[in-house]
Amino acid sequence: MCQPDQNRRLVTEIPGPKSRKLQQRRGAELADGLGLTMPVFVENAGGGVIVDVDGNQIVDLASGIAVTSVGASDPAVARRVAEQAERFTHTCFLVTQYEGFIDVARALNELTPGDFRKKTALFTTGAEAVENAVKIARVATGRSAVIALSHAYHGWSLLTMTMTAKNLPYKDGFGPFAPEVYRVPSPYPYRWPGGPDQAAQGALDALRETVLTQVGANNVAAIIAEPIQGEGGCIVPPAGYLTGVQDFARELGIVFIVDEIQTGFARTGHMFASEHEGIEPDLITTAKALGGGLPLAAVTGRAEIMDAVPAGGLGGTYAGNPVACAAALGALETIEREALVQRARDIEAKVKPRLAALTGEASAVGEVRGRGAMLAIEFVRPGTTAPAPELARAVSAACHAQGVLVLVCGTFGNVIRLLPPLVICDDLLDDALDVICGAIDEVQP
Ligand SMILES: *Cc1c(COP(=O)(O)O)cnc(C)c1O
Repeated sequence: MCQPDQNRRLVTEIPGPKSRKLQQRRGAELADGLGLTMPVFVENAGGGVIVDVDGNQIVDLASGIAVTSVGASDPAVARRVAEQAERFTHTCFLVTQYEGFIDVARALNELTPGDFRKKTALFTTGAEAVENAVKIARVATGRSAVIALSHAYHGWSLLTMTMTAKNLPYKDGFGPFAPEVYRVPSPYPYRWPGGPDQAAQGALDALRETVLTQVGANNVAAIIAEPIQGEGGCIVPPAGYLTGVQDFARELGIVFIVDEIQTGFARTGHMFASEHEGIEPDLITTAKALGGGLPLAAVTGRAEIMDAVPAGGLGGTYAGNPVACAAALGALETIEREALVQRARDIEAKVKPRLAALTGEASAVGEVRGRGAMLAIEFVRPGTTAPAPELARAVSAACHAQGVLVLVCGTFGNVIRLLPPLVICDDLLDDALDVICGAIDEVQP
């Protein structure tokens, strides 16, 4: 529930002295390869606010990258986690079983789009879910090739980093990559040559050509797409594209995997973003908001495809950990009780028009886009569509200095993305928007 007493409050500069001291310890102890958005250390978090160790109250427009959609200390999640942890923390579901695993699977089978019988397997991280979806598709089809999109993001592991489009920082130096991954253009409306109206058909034509003439449909196990590309820049595919991919995949016996890891669980104003397009993917990968902050991931899909892998082929020591399952049931309870699907739509209705007013011929805001509480601002050199990553960085730095946590994303690093917890109050959102709009005003050349 929205906590109306929450507000933004800075008592030191950001980062404050205590965070700076911890930052020094981090430098001495931690591998440099671990990235960082905002150099503060957290004391507690919940609702729409993160309180750092110096006592600063920061407005959270990141949700730990679309994870804590119900807030970072949701009472239903916290209570179920505590209860489960007191009973047992782990058995390994592959060794001895527990009911929570089935309850989460049943919820996913029911909630995901698709008017057919579904089954689910639980895992720990999103990358694992994507890897397993590919493994399942390969066994089910007896084929090996995977088609992924430009601007795609699917994870940090070898296969999923191969499927991820962007070199820096995800892939650089980490090759050789996994074989049999092919890339087709994503229909990025704002940047599609010939304009947004051409994007859906153009991208579908390119997909057909790659599959039919370069790879051969009889070699393609799966086509995978995010229903809104998150890390790639919060890119919303044009109407008709995803249904076109689905039709094409069905025609050729290719498994259509939709990666809902970032978009799932009310984030976009539907329980799953696939519902905006009316698609019914063969397999859906989920993670992030599923576990309400605890590590949990899933592959859900057509029973006959899911059952293609024989016993022992799927799993993981921590896959579907009982505490994470308890957290997921708490998160789902809160999404339903607090009507967070509708809340995501209300957030869009409130935030998007304010941001959209910043676009214009001479503006550095090239486009405002997104759905529900997954919204983004793309920065360009005014009067052009040339990406302006320096402006995105400057706006983000100004927001952070004023206690508003935003994330930069995009293949060109020029997009600021807003992923607030869905339980954030309107007052906090308004205040954060004032800060963002002010920061954009200041950096406009
Ligand atoms: C975050 C993300 C992943 C990877 O999830 P991890 O839990 O970090 O492994 C995969 N796909 C999409 C679309 C994501 O946003």
